[in-house]
Amino acid sequence: MSAVLQPVLRRRRVQETCLCAAYRFPHRAGSGTCRGDQPGPFCGSCGEPCDTTRADFGVGAYEYWGSMGFDRNVQTVSDCCEATVFRDAALRHEWED
Ligand SMILES: [Zn+2]
Ligand SMILES: [Zn+2]
Repeated sequence: MSAVLQPVLRRRRVQETCLCAAYRFPHRAGSGTCRGDQPGPFCGSCGEPCDTTRADFGVGAYEYWGSMGFDRNVQTVSDCCEATVFRDAALRHEWED
């Protein structure tokens, strides 16, 4: 008995599946409280769309074996939580500027 294998044809998704923090499962972008259809950047802490700001995480002025230095570590962070910013609502791709 020979079974004819039917390829499973999937309809091409019109809407993109989103993995943002609104739900714990993949969902349709823009559904319910999803923010996947909103333009970024998105805050890595609260998941909300946010603006970016620059924050200096350096230790500032320091002295090391008699030589003075100034440590700067300026990073782009969200204006709401000062957390890492992401390009997508699923928080998988870090924002680059
Ligand atoms: Zn979403
Ligand atoms: Zn935030």
